[in-house]
Amino acid sequence: MFKATLTIAWITCVAQAWIVPHPQNRPSTQLHVAAKIGRGFQRVKDSLTSAERSREDLKIGIAGFYDRSTKLWEEVWGDHLHHGYYVPADRTDHKQAQIDMIDEVLKWAGVDQATRVVDVGCGIGGSSRHIARKFPGCQTEGITLSPYQAGRGNELAAEQGLANQCRFQVADALDMPFADNSFDLIWSLESGEHMPDKKQFINELFRVCEPGGRIIVVTWCHRDLEPGETSLTKSEEKLLRKINRAYYLPQWCSVKDYVDLMEAQGATDVKRDDWSYIIAPFWKAVIKSSLNLKSVIGLLRSGFSTQRGAYAMFLMLRGYKKGLIKFGCLTCTKPMSKKTEKTVTIR
Ligand code: SAH
Repeated sequence: MFKATLTIAWITCVAQAWIVPHPQNRPSTQLHVAAKIGRGFQRVKDSLTSAERSREDLKIGIAGFYDRSTKLWEEVWGDHLHHGYYVPADRTDHKQAQIDMIDEVLKWAGVDQATRVVDVGCGIGGSSRHIARKFPGCQTEGITLSPYQAGRGNELAAEQGLANQCRFQVADALDMPFADNSFDLIWSLESGEHMPDKKQFINELFRVCEPGGRIIVVTWCHRDLEPGETSLTKSEEKLLRKINRAYYLPQWCSVKDYVDLMEAQGATDVKRDDWSYIIAPFWKAVIKSSLNLKSVIGLLRSGFSTQRGAYAMFLMLRGYKKGLIKFGCLTCTKPMSKKTEKTVTIR
């Protein structure tokens, strides 16, 4: 790998020196092409070394990744971009397993009513529409970084007669376009792993939640560190870096880190669970579903990042098997009065 990186770095330098002519006769188109080629090489190099993306690159990357891959996912899997609930483990109706995941999480969190819900990292709004039907009259707001997903979410809401209940827009979860105390249910299903600043993410969830409101975060985490450990092992870090590159993720944190962040906001009834065993059959099912002609053609058409995402399914499977990746469920209530915020350090 190191050798490959050096070779690519070398080719990049030579190509840039060779393509970019003398400053006096440097036409802007040549400059533009040279810069583009340079950026292309840099991207290949970053991919090969699983380099971490900057915050800005990550944000643009997430939007583009979901813009490109969501249509194919919806064709094969429907409108939920999350794991299914596999109890019993041999169930074969995967779409129902995904819907059950929403119901089981709500049950686990003790939520049997909601009037104003924000779906943070909403995909194409499968959770929002399900919750809107489950709790009649409730209003939902969904946010995503992907313009395609926001548009599709609104389209599906209109088709399903839910346009007056569910709205979707492009917005950043780290800086939400909602006033303080706006919602009684904060729902984030498999979007937390994309957040480059977990503290700011949790702070924002608490900010828009009304006092006494409920916060639910279901997200990919790495295992809790053992007493005496200060980091994951090198090989664990390496596996996560490869997954990050494919799925546009920043550094991961543990379920324990999330608990600390919630408690720092004054939440007293934090509940946590590890549902890795419940979702275990999911990735195998996704891999199986991609082994048909329609999926393969869709995959070939949808470009490199979706194909790399498909390959990363095997890495996810490995991470779960090793006990490195955890499907973390967290819930808590926002305190009625704001306590002094405690300091928590997350990588
Ligand atoms: N919760 C949805 C989608 C999960 S996919 C479902 O279960 O179907 C992850 C989602 O998180 C995508 O919609 C992506 O756009 C969104 N996301 C990632 N980072 C985000 C951010 N900073 N702000 C808002 N949405 C974000």
